[in-house]
Amino acid sequence: MTKKRIGIVGSTGSIGRQALDVIRLNRELFDISFLCANSSEELLKEQAAEFGVDAVCLAAGGAQSLVKLIREQELDLVLVAAVGAAGIVPAWETVNRGIDLALANKESIVAAGRIILDRAKETGASVIPVDSEHSAIHQCLMGQRIEDVQKVILTASGGAFRNTPNDALGHVGVSEALNHPNWSMGSKITVDSATMMNKGLELIEARFLFDIDPSILDVVIHPQSIIHSAVQFIDGSTLAQLGWPDMRTPISFAMGLPSRLECGVKPLDLFEVGRLDFRKPDYDKYRCLALALEVLKKDNNGPMIVMNAANEIAVEQFLLGNVSYLGIAEVIEETLSIFDTGDFSTLEEVFETDKKARETARYSVKRMNG
Ligand code: NAD
Ligand code: MG
Repeated sequence: MTKKRIGIVGSTGSIGRQALDVIRLNRELFDISFLCANSSEELLKEQAAEFGVDAVCLAAGGAQSLVKLIREQELDLVLVAAVGAAGIVPAWETVNRGIDLALANKESIVAAGRIILDRAKETGASVIPVDSEHSAIHQCLMGQRIEDVQKVILTASGGAFRNTPNDALGHVGVSEALNHPNWSMGSKITVDSATMMNKGLELIEARFLFDIDPSILDVVIHPQSIIHSAVQFIDGSTLAQLGWPDMRTPISFAMGLPSRLECGVKPLDLFEVGRLDFRKPDYDKYRCLALALEVLKKDNNGPMIVMNAANEIAVEQFLLGNVSYLGIAEVIEETLSIFDTGDFSTLEEVFETDKKARETARYSVKRMNG
Protein backbone atom coordinates (compact mmCIF):
# COMPACT_ATOMS: atom_id res chain seq x y z
CA MET A 1 0.00 0.00 0.00
CA THR A 2 1.34 3.45 -0.83
CA LYS A 3 1.78 5.74 2.10
CA LYS A 4 -0.32 8.87 2.54
CA ARG A 5 1.89 11.94 2.37
CA ILE A 6 0.69 14.31 5.06
CA GLY A 7 1.63 17.84 6.09
CA ILE A 8 0.76 19.04 9.60
CA VAL A 9 0.15 22.70 10.43
CA GLY A 10 0.24 23.21 14.20
CA SER A 11 2.11 20.00 15.01
CA THR A 12 3.18 21.18 18.49
CA GLY A 13 -0.37 21.89 19.67
CA SER A 14 -2.93 19.65 21.32
CA ILE A 15 -4.41 18.35 18.03
CA GLY A 16 -1.04 18.25 16.27
CA ARG A 17 0.58 16.13 18.99
CA GLN A 18 -2.36 13.72 19.01
CA ALA A 19 -2.12 13.42 15.21
CA LEU A 20 1.51 12.38 15.67
CA ASP A 21 0.38 9.83 18.29
CA VAL A 22 -1.92 8.34 15.63
CA ILE A 23 0.92 8.25 13.09
CA ARG A 24 3.21 6.60 15.65
CA LEU A 25 0.71 3.71 15.81
CA ASN A 26 0.34 3.56 12.01
CA ARG A 27 3.85 4.24 10.71
CA GLU A 28 3.34 2.02 7.66
CA LEU A 29 0.46 4.23 6.46
CA PHE A 30 1.92 7.74 6.59
CA ASP A 31 4.86 9.76 5.34
CA ILE A 32 5.11 13.21 6.90
CA SER A 33 5.88 15.76 4.16
CA PHE A 34 6.21 18.74 6.47
CA LEU A 35 5.62 19.98 10.00
CA CYS A 36 4.82 23.54 10.95
CA ALA A 37 4.24 25.36 14.24
CA ASN A 38 4.07 28.92 15.41
CA SER A 39 6.82 28.76 18.03
CA SER A 40 7.93 25.80 20.27
CA GLU A 41 11.05 25.37 18.15
CA GLU A 42 12.55 22.68 20.40
CA LEU A 43 9.51 20.41 20.24
CA LEU A 44 9.22 20.94 16.49
CA LYS A 45 12.86 19.84 16.07
CA GLU A 46 12.26 16.77 18.22
CA GLN A 47 9.20 15.84 16.16
CA ALA A 48 11.09 16.31 12.90
CA ALA A 49 13.94 14.10 14.15
CA GLU A 50 11.60 11.36 15.38
CA PHE A 51 9.65 11.13 12.12
CA GLY A 52 12.54 11.93 9.78
CA VAL A 53 10.97 15.09 8.37
CA ASP A 54 13.23 17.48 6.44
CA ALA A 55 10.71 20.22 5.73
CA VAL A 56 9.78 22.15 8.86
CA CYS A 57 8.81 25.75 9.39
CA LEU A 58 8.03 28.22 12.13
CA ALA A 59 5.15 30.47 11.18
CA ALA A 60 5.86 33.10 13.83
CA GLY A 61 7.54 35.40 11.31
CA GLY A 62 4.73 35.17 8.73
CA ALA A 63 2.99 32.60 6.56
CA GLN A 64 5.34 32.72 3.52
CA SER A 65 7.40 29.65 4.34
CA LEU A 66 4.29 27.65 5.21
CA VAL A 67 2.62 28.67 1.94
CA LYS A 68 5.74 27.57 0.08
CA LEU A 69 5.64 24.16 1.77
CA ILE A 70 1.96 23.62 0.92
CA ARG A 71 2.56 24.70 -2.69
CA GLU A 72 5.71 22.68 -3.27
CA GLN A 73 5.77 19.53 -1.14
CA GLU A 74 4.38 16.23 -2.36
CA LEU A 75 1.12 15.91 -0.47
CA ASP A 76 -2.02 13.79 -0.31
CA LEU A 77 -3.45 15.42 2.81
CA VAL A 78 -2.84 18.48 4.98
CA LEU A 79 -3.98 18.61 8.61
CA VAL A 80 -4.64 22.21 9.59
CA ALA A 81 -4.51 22.34 13.38
CA ALA A 82 -3.31 25.89 13.89
CA VAL A 83 -5.45 27.97 16.22
CA GLY A 84 -7.47 31.03 15.18
CA ALA A 85 -7.79 32.92 11.91
CA ALA A 86 -4.20 31.84 11.17
CA GLY A 87 -5.83 28.69 9.79
CA ILE A 88 -7.36 30.54 6.84
CA VAL A 89 -4.19 30.76 4.72
CA PRO A 90 -3.09 27.10 5.04
CA ALA A 91 -6.68 25.84 4.58
CA TRP A 92 -7.08 27.95 1.44
CA GLU A 93 -3.68 27.02 -0.01
CA THR A 94 -4.43 23.32 0.53
CA VAL A 95 -7.79 23.23 -1.24
CA ASN A 96 -6.58 25.70 -3.87
CA ARG A 97 -4.00 23.09 -4.90
CA GLY A 98 -6.69 20.40 -4.92
CA ILE A 99 -5.24 18.60 -1.91
CA ASP A 100 -7.48 17.01 0.70
CA LEU A 101 -7.82 18.98 3.90
CA ALA A 102 -8.27 17.46 7.37
CA LEU A 103 -9.56 20.51 9.18
CA ALA A 104 -9.37 20.96 12.94
CA ASN A 105 -9.24 24.74 12.67
CA LYS A 106 -12.85 25.93 12.88
CA GLU A 107 -12.06 29.66 12.79
CA SER A 108 -11.08 29.43 9.09
CA ILE A 109 -14.53 28.08 8.20
CA VAL A 110 -16.29 30.65 10.38
CA ALA A 111 -14.45 33.51 8.67
CA ALA A 112 -14.11 32.16 5.14
CA GLY A 113 -16.18 29.00 4.94
CA ARG A 114 -17.96 29.64 1.69
CA ILE A 115 -14.80 30.86 -0.05
CA ILE A 116 -12.75 27.84 1.03
CA LEU A 117 -15.49 25.26 0.36
CA ASP A 118 -16.41 26.71 -3.04
CA ARG A 119 -12.77 26.52 -4.06
CA ALA A 120 -12.53 22.94 -2.77
CA LYS A 121 -15.49 22.00 -4.97
CA GLU A 122 -13.76 23.51 -8.00
CA THR A 123 -10.45 21.74 -7.40
CA GLY A 124 -11.94 18.45 -6.17
CA ALA A 125 -10.30 18.65 -2.73
CA SER A 126 -12.18 16.98 0.14
CA VAL A 127 -12.61 18.92 3.36
CA ILE A 128 -12.79 16.41 6.19
CA PRO A 129 -13.73 17.76 9.61
CA VAL A 130 -11.63 16.91 12.66
CA ASP A 131 -13.78 18.78 15.17
CA SER A 132 -15.51 15.96 17.08
CA GLU A 133 -19.07 17.22 16.50
CA HIS A 134 -18.51 17.63 12.78
CA SER A 135 -16.76 14.32 12.50
CA ALA A 136 -19.85 12.81 14.14
CA ILE A 137 -22.23 14.62 11.78
CA HIS A 138 -20.09 13.65 8.79
CA GLN A 139 -20.29 10.00 9.87
CA CYS A 140 -24.06 10.19 10.46
CA LEU A 141 -24.53 11.69 6.98
CA MET A 142 -22.47 9.07 5.14
CA GLY A 143 -24.73 7.35 2.62
CA GLN A 144 -27.66 9.69 3.42
CA ARG A 145 -29.43 12.30 1.32
CA ILE A 146 -29.14 15.83 2.71
CA GLU A 147 -32.80 16.51 1.76
CA ASP A 148 -33.88 13.77 4.19
CA VAL A 149 -32.28 15.59 7.13
CA GLN A 150 -34.71 17.30 9.49
CA LYS A 151 -32.41 18.46 12.26
CA VAL A 152 -28.72 18.44 13.14
CA ILE A 153 -27.99 18.38 16.86
CA LEU A 154 -24.60 19.48 18.16
CA THR A 155 -23.82 18.28 21.65
CA ALA A 156 -21.88 20.45 24.10
CA SER A 157 -20.28 19.64 27.43
CA GLY A 158 -21.28 23.02 28.89
CA GLY A 159 -17.63 23.78 29.66
CA ALA A 160 -15.89 24.66 32.89
CA PHE A 161 -18.79 26.65 34.38
CA ARG A 162 -21.69 24.39 33.59
CA ASN A 163 -22.38 23.89 37.30
CA THR A 164 -21.42 27.41 38.36
CA PRO A 165 -24.39 29.61 39.33
CA ASN A 166 -24.87 32.57 36.96
CA ASP A 167 -24.35 35.13 39.72
CA ALA A 168 -20.92 33.66 40.54
CA LEU A 169 -19.59 34.19 36.99
CA GLY A 170 -18.51 37.74 37.81
CA HIS A 171 -15.76 36.32 40.00
CA VAL A 172 -14.33 33.43 37.99
CA GLY A 173 -10.75 33.63 36.75
CA VAL A 174 -8.40 32.18 34.15
CA SER A 175 -7.39 29.02 35.99
CA GLU A 176 -11.05 28.06 36.54
CA ALA A 177 -11.94 28.72 32.90
CA LEU A 178 -9.07 26.49 31.80
CA ASN A 179 -10.32 23.59 33.90
CA HIS A 180 -12.40 21.71 31.30
CA PRO A 181 -14.45 18.81 32.70
CA ASN A 182 -14.11 16.35 29.77
CA TRP A 183 -11.54 17.36 27.16
CA SER A 184 -7.88 18.33 27.34
CA MET A 185 -7.28 21.01 24.68
CA GLY A 186 -5.37 24.21 23.86
CA SER A 187 -6.12 27.27 26.00
CA LYS A 188 -8.11 29.27 23.42
CA ILE A 189 -10.64 26.51 22.71
CA THR A 190 -10.89 25.68 26.42
CA VAL A 191 -11.98 29.25 27.18
CA ASP A 192 -14.30 29.12 24.14
CA SER A 193 -15.85 25.99 25.68
CA ALA A 194 -16.40 27.76 29.01
CA THR A 195 -18.22 30.66 27.28
CA MET A 196 -19.78 28.26 24.75
CA MET A 197 -18.54 30.50 21.95
CA ASN A 198 -16.97 27.23 20.86
CA LYS A 199 -20.44 25.83 20.15
CA GLY A 200 -21.37 29.08 18.39
CA LEU A 201 -18.33 28.76 16.12
CA GLU A 202 -19.22 25.10 15.57
CA LEU A 203 -22.80 25.90 14.50
CA ILE A 204 -21.40 28.18 11.83
CA GLU A 205 -18.80 25.56 10.94
CA ALA A 206 -21.59 22.99 10.49
CA ARG A 207 -23.67 25.41 8.45
CA PHE A 208 -20.90 25.69 5.84
CA LEU A 209 -19.27 22.25 5.99
CA PHE A 210 -22.53 20.43 5.33
CA ASP A 211 -24.32 23.27 3.50
CA ILE A 212 -27.30 23.10 5.84
CA ASP A 213 -29.92 25.69 6.59
CA PRO A 214 -29.09 27.46 9.90
CA SER A 215 -32.70 26.95 11.04
CA ILE A 216 -32.26 23.17 11.41
CA LEU A 217 -29.21 23.42 13.67
CA ASP A 218 -29.67 22.82 17.38
CA VAL A 219 -27.49 22.64 20.52
CA VAL A 220 -27.98 20.27 23.45
CA ILE A 221 -25.87 20.25 26.61
CA HIS A 222 -24.73 16.71 27.23
CA PRO A 223 -22.41 16.71 30.24
CA GLN A 224 -20.86 13.26 29.63
CA SER A 225 -19.57 14.12 26.10
CA ILE A 226 -20.23 10.57 24.90
CA ILE A 227 -22.62 11.42 22.06
CA HIS A 228 -20.54 13.69 19.83
CA SER A 229 -23.51 14.90 17.76
CA ALA A 230 -26.62 13.53 16.05
CA VAL A 231 -28.66 13.87 12.88
CA GLN A 232 -32.44 13.45 12.69
CA PHE A 233 -34.14 12.31 9.50
CA ILE A 234 -37.70 12.83 8.24
CA ASP A 235 -38.69 9.24 9.03
CA GLY A 236 -38.24 9.61 12.80
CA SER A 237 -34.77 8.10 12.78
CA THR A 238 -31.94 9.75 14.71
CA LEU A 239 -28.35 8.68 14.07
CA ALA A 240 -25.64 9.61 16.55
CA GLN A 241 -21.93 8.89 16.89
CA LEU A 242 -20.67 7.81 20.31
CA GLY A 243 -17.26 7.34 21.86
CA TRP A 244 -15.06 8.39 24.77
CA PRO A 245 -14.17 12.09 24.59
CA ASP A 246 -10.79 11.53 22.95
CA MET A 247 -9.76 13.56 19.89
CA ARG A 248 -7.65 10.71 18.53
CA THR A 249 -10.88 9.17 17.24
CA PRO A 250 -11.95 12.07 14.97
CA ILE A 251 -8.31 12.88 14.08
CA SER A 252 -7.62 9.29 12.98
CA PHE A 253 -10.94 9.14 11.14
CA ALA A 254 -10.03 12.21 9.07
CA MET A 255 -6.49 10.95 8.45
CA GLY A 256 -7.45 7.38 7.61
CA LEU A 257 -10.42 7.83 5.29
CA PRO A 258 -11.66 5.61 3.74
CA SER A 259 -10.14 3.23 6.35
CA ARG A 260 -10.55 3.45 10.09
CA LEU A 261 -7.32 3.28 12.07
CA GLU A 262 -6.33 1.93 15.44
CA CYS A 263 -5.53 5.03 17.41
CA GLY A 264 -5.13 3.97 21.02
CA VAL A 265 -8.66 4.83 22.15
CA LYS A 266 -10.29 2.13 24.25
CA PRO A 267 -13.70 0.85 23.17
CA LEU A 268 -16.73 2.56 24.64
CA ASP A 269 -18.21 0.67 27.58
CA LEU A 270 -21.88 1.58 27.95
CA PHE A 271 -22.04 0.01 31.43
CA GLU A 272 -19.18 2.24 32.55
CA VAL A 273 -20.93 5.25 30.97
CA GLY A 274 -24.12 4.28 32.83
CA ARG A 275 -26.26 7.24 31.84
CA LEU A 276 -26.51 10.02 29.30
CA ASP A 277 -28.01 13.38 30.33
CA PHE A 278 -29.27 16.26 28.21
CA ARG A 279 -30.35 19.79 28.96
CA LYS A 280 -31.09 23.06 27.20
CA PRO A 281 -28.41 25.75 27.17
CA ASP A 282 -29.14 28.80 29.32
CA TYR A 283 -28.62 31.77 26.99
CA ASP A 284 -28.31 34.24 29.89
CA LYS A 285 -25.43 32.20 31.19
CA TYR A 286 -23.86 31.63 27.77
CA ARG A 287 -24.08 35.16 26.27
CA CYS A 288 -21.46 34.27 23.68
CA LEU A 289 -23.60 31.42 22.34
CA ALA A 290 -26.59 33.76 22.11
CA LEU A 291 -24.48 36.27 20.14
CA ALA A 292 -23.26 33.54 17.80
CA LEU A 293 -26.84 32.43 17.17
CA GLU A 294 -27.78 35.97 16.13
CA VAL A 295 -24.80 36.05 13.79
CA LEU A 296 -25.69 32.63 12.38
CA LYS A 297 -29.23 33.80 11.64
CA LYS A 298 -27.97 36.74 9.57
CA ASP A 299 -26.09 34.19 7.46
CA ASN A 300 -23.60 36.76 6.08
CA ASN A 301 -19.92 36.17 6.61
CA GLY A 302 -19.21 39.80 7.60
CA PRO A 303 -20.61 39.44 11.14
CA MET A 304 -19.03 35.97 11.38
CA ILE A 305 -15.57 37.41 10.66
CA VAL A 306 -16.13 40.25 13.13
CA MET A 307 -17.40 37.93 15.86
CA ASN A 308 -14.53 35.51 15.39
CA ALA A 309 -11.89 38.26 15.42
CA ALA A 310 -13.40 40.00 18.48
CA ASN A 311 -13.58 36.66 20.28
CA GLU A 312 -9.91 35.93 19.55
CA ILE A 313 -8.87 39.30 20.99
CA ALA A 314 -11.21 39.02 23.98
CA VAL A 315 -9.96 35.52 24.85
CA GLU A 316 -6.32 36.53 24.39
CA GLN A 317 -6.87 39.51 26.71
CA PHE A 318 -8.81 37.38 29.20
CA LEU A 319 -5.88 34.94 29.35
CA LEU A 320 -3.56 37.90 30.00
CA GLY A 321 -5.78 39.11 32.82
CA ASN A 322 -6.91 42.28 31.00
CA VAL A 323 -10.55 41.28 30.51
CA SER A 324 -12.88 39.65 33.02
CA TYR A 325 -14.70 36.45 32.13
CA LEU A 326 -17.99 38.30 31.57
CA GLY A 327 -16.06 40.99 29.68
CA ILE A 328 -15.43 38.52 26.85
CA ALA A 329 -19.06 38.67 25.70
CA GLU A 330 -19.11 42.45 26.22
CA VAL A 331 -16.13 42.97 23.92
CA ILE A 332 -17.71 40.78 21.23
CA GLU A 333 -21.12 42.44 21.51
CA GLU A 334 -19.65 45.92 21.37
CA THR A 335 -17.45 45.08 18.37
CA LEU A 336 -20.36 43.50 16.52
CA SER A 337 -22.52 46.57 17.16
CA ILE A 338 -19.96 48.88 15.54
CA PHE A 339 -19.71 46.98 12.26
CA ASP A 340 -22.44 46.90 9.67
CA THR A 341 -20.96 44.25 7.45
CA GLY A 342 -22.37 42.31 4.54
CA ASP A 343 -21.28 39.18 2.75
CA PHE A 344 -17.75 39.04 1.33
CA SER A 345 -16.58 36.84 -1.48
CA THR A 346 -12.84 37.46 -1.52
CA LEU A 347 -10.12 36.55 0.96
CA GLU A 348 -8.75 40.12 0.78
CA GLU A 349 -12.05 41.43 2.15
CA VAL A 350 -12.03 38.73 4.83
CA PHE A 351 -8.54 39.73 5.99
CA GLU A 352 -9.37 43.43 5.89
CA THR A 353 -12.55 42.97 7.95
CA ASP A 354 -10.72 40.67 10.38
CA LYS A 355 -8.02 43.29 10.87
CA LYS A 356 -10.45 46.14 11.46
CA ALA A 357 -12.51 44.06 13.88
CA ARG A 358 -9.37 43.19 15.88
CA GLU A 359 -8.47 46.88 16.16
CA THR A 360 -11.98 47.71 17.34
CA ALA A 361 -11.99 44.86 19.86
CA ARG A 362 -8.62 46.00 21.26
CA TYR A 363 -10.00 49.50 21.60
CA SER A 364 -13.04 48.09 23.40
CA VAL A 365 -10.76 46.24 25.84
CA LYS A 366 -8.80 49.46 26.52
CA ARG A 367 -11.96 51.42 27.10
CA MET A 368 -13.29 48.79 29.51
CA ASN A 369 -10.09 49.11 31.50
CA GLY A 370 -10.78 52.84 31.55
P1 NAD B 1 -3.10 24.63 20.59
O1 NAD B 1 -3.01 26.01 21.10
O2 NAD B 1 -2.84 23.49 21.51
O3 NAD B 1 -2.10 24.45 19.35
C1 NAD B 1 -2.07 25.34 18.29
C2 NAD B 1 -0.97 24.96 17.32
O4 NAD B 1 -1.01 25.86 16.22
C3 NAD B 1 0.45 25.05 17.90
O5 NAD B 1 1.23 24.05 17.31
C4 NAD B 1 0.91 26.41 17.42
O6 NAD B 1 2.33 26.51 17.36
C5 NAD B 1 0.29 26.44 16.05
N1 NAD B 1 0.09 27.76 15.47
C6 NAD B 1 -0.39 28.88 16.09
N2 NAD B 1 -0.40 29.92 15.21
C7 NAD B 1 0.06 29.42 14.03
C8 NAD B 1 0.30 30.00 12.77
N3 NAD B 1 0.09 31.30 12.55
N4 NAD B 1 0.77 29.20 11.77
C9 NAD B 1 1.03 27.90 12.01
N5 NAD B 1 0.83 27.30 13.19
C10 NAD B 1 0.36 28.06 14.19
O7 NAD B 1 -4.54 24.50 19.91
P2 NAD B 1 -5.43 23.19 19.74
O8 NAD B 1 -6.24 22.97 20.95
O9 NAD B 1 -4.60 22.08 19.19
O10 NAD B 1 -6.46 23.67 18.63
C11 NAD B 1 -6.10 23.82 17.27
C12 NAD B 1 -7.36 24.06 16.44
O11 NAD B 1 -8.17 22.88 16.50
C13 NAD B 1 -8.23 25.21 16.95
O12 NAD B 1 -8.83 25.85 15.87
C14 NAD B 1 -9.30 24.50 17.78
O13 NAD B 1 -10.51 25.21 17.83
C15 NAD B 1 -9.45 23.21 17.00
N6 NAD B 1 -9.94 22.08 17.82
C16 NAD B 1 -9.19 21.64 18.86
C17 NAD B 1 -9.63 20.59 19.64
C18 NAD B 1 -8.80 20.04 20.77
O14 NAD B 1 -9.16 19.02 21.36
N7 NAD B 1 -7.68 20.64 21.12
C19 NAD B 1 -10.87 20.00 19.36
C20 NAD B 1 -11.62 20.48 18.29
C21 NAD B 1 -11.14 21.52 17.52
MG1 MG C 1 -15.79 20.48 18.92
